[in-house]
Amino acid sequence: MRKRLSRRTFILAGLGAGAAAFARWATRPDTVLYNGRILTMSARAREVEALALAGDRVFAIGTSAEMLALADSSTQRVDLGGKRVTPGFNDAHSHPCSSGVALLTQIPLEMDSIEAVKSAIHAKAAATAPGEWVVGFLYDDTKTPRPLDRADLDAAAPDHPVVVQHRGGHTAFVNSRALALVNITQSSPNPPHGEYFRDASGRHNGRVAESAAEAILALAIKPPTREDYRKGAALISKQLASRGVTSACEADGDPAVLQGYQDARDAGELMGRFYTHIDYGALDKMIAAGVHTGFGDEWVRVGAVKLFADGSISERTALLSQPYAGLGDYRGISRASRETLYEQARKAYLAGWQVGTHANGDVAIDTILGVYEQLQREVPRRDPRLRIEHCTLVTPDLVRRIRAAGVIPLPFAGYVFFHGEKMRFYGEERLKHMFAMRDFLDAGIKAAPGSDYTASPAEPMLWLRSEVTRTDANGHVWGANQRITIEEAIRCSTVHGAHASFEEGMKGGLDPGQLADLVVWDQDLLAIDPAGLMSVKPERTMLGGRWVYES
Ligand SMILES: [Zn+2]
Repeated sequence: MRKRLSRRTFILAGLGAGAAAFARWATRPDTVLYNGRILTMSARAREVEALALAGDRVFAIGTSAEMLALADSSTQRVDLGGKRVTPGFNDAHSHPCSSGVALLTQIPLEMDSIEAVKSAIHAKAAATAPGEWVVGFLYDDTKTPRPLDRADLDAAAPDHPVVVQHRGGHTAFVNSRALALVNITQSSPNPPHGEYFRDASGRHNGRVAESAAEAILALAIKPPTREDYRKGAALISKQLASRGVTSACEADGDPAVLQGYQDARDAGELMGRFYTHIDYGALDKMIAAGVHTGFGDEWVRVGAVKLFADGSISERTALLSQPYAGLGDYRGISRASRETLYEQARKAYLAGWQVGTHANGDVAIDTILGVYEQLQREVPRRDPRLRIEHCTLVTPDLVRRIRAAGVIPLPFAGYVFFHGEKMRFYGEERLKHMFAMRDFLDAGIKAAPGSDYTASPAEPMLWLRSEVTRTDANGHVWGANQRITIEEAIRCSTVHGAHASFEEGMKGGLDPGQLADLVVWDQDLLAIDPAGLMSVKPERTMLGGRWVYES
């Protein structure tokens, strides 16, 4: 009796509370991954040698001998060769679908010279009918010796309206034809919540921000077709899988984007799981359809309603209490009043939605946190996990309030490293309170970092390097007090990412019953000098028990 029980007891002991049904349908694994160093994130066994998988789930975890003992003649056995395995990463705030669609039609301008940008635009213009828009993306004004300007774009494409989007998504650079098409003259005032920037002599220099950029982009970018969304979602999910990202939060979706992911899933082309925020503009439609946060399945799920409180960190439009360093009294741009945010958040909250509000600066964070606190006072709801997307610059008091309200911050994972050259606009003192991962973790807050791709690369090793070292590409350290350990950083981008989308029961770790989403790495990221993390690559990525990437 004892002997017979031991195997059964062993399997059941490994099952979480939510996995009891799973134990009934699977009686043995169809795959065993053994001889690995598998970081499970499980409270039961932090690291194991082997995983047994059944269908798309983890069946059991343990030693190689224990897992191989569960196999029979039809079980596939995979020798991991001692390699490091982690759960698949979760990019908890990103813009995958729109980036995928942009990759299909726009010019990628991830370049460090103005001449290279100009010649890429010139080449695209030559292949585009005169008068038609030429659109670029992934440009970053601090990666070129000076920012691109209107004269550069006029010279590159004199016969075409041109708009080049900053990779941060809040500003753009346009030529004279583009300004003329939106009827902007020297005497035009700035629109509400936007700006047309000017040079020293007062002439428009071609840089436009927030609502001013949106108006031009609305004219320049043709609405993508259903087919474009499907292809874009499929393309980007494949790229993400190759970097070890198996889940992402789509932070700016709408019904068309949701359909794009769903179409890609139906076509068998989706290589990741997407929690899709819905823009406020589509909320009424979604409510009318009887849908709220959580609708969907483990591939495509409806996320939070997305609101905006201020601008961006990488483009210096975040709303700060103290001026930017070296920019006079400039303190950033507000995107909505408190009244508007309250009204929007209340409508969503009452309809059962999670709310995810973009807020970077301390002023914007204080505002939206106040709205969240008010809503929870007025209509208490169990565990609404209200989100502050980015939540970049905090104070000890804001951290305390975030904790008390059970709010989830979604900080930029890789900014210190990738956007290091922009940190001088914030300064040493302020950086001690930006991307405040140490403060969040010490307060018991489940912060879940994201890339905000295209704003920074969706590249987990870059995130870990940034969070662990707080060092930029030139070796400058910004806010060493916010360093976290490599294992904490992995936990934040796996377990916490799943928690931010209410999916901690099914993914984030490799406990029995959880989805078999994992990455086999070519080096041990837990043992390597963090300065060398960028050389670590996925060897294979598994999604739901199926290999979706092999190097
Ligand atoms: Zn974003």
